[in-house]
Amino acid sequence: MRLVVDQGKCCGHARCNDRAPDVFALDDLGYAVAGEIEVPEGKEDAALAGARACPERAVTVV
Ligand code: SF4
Repeated sequence: MRLVVDQGKCCGHARCNDRAPDVFALDDLGYAVAGEIEVPEGKEDAALAGARACPERAVTVV
């Protein structure tokens, strides 16, 4: 499973990281690191929860 974080939509709520800290890295300002993420095996459910928790819909499952 891969995800994409859209930097233009991310507002730094960090809810994605709260649900899945092993999947969503944050930068120094608390924004999700943008770009493609290869979800580690066994972290798919947490990754989906993180994507769904994003109020800006900045995370897309590809
Ligand atoms: S929850 Fe969404 S807006 Fe907030 S840091 Fe994560 S990707 Fe960005």
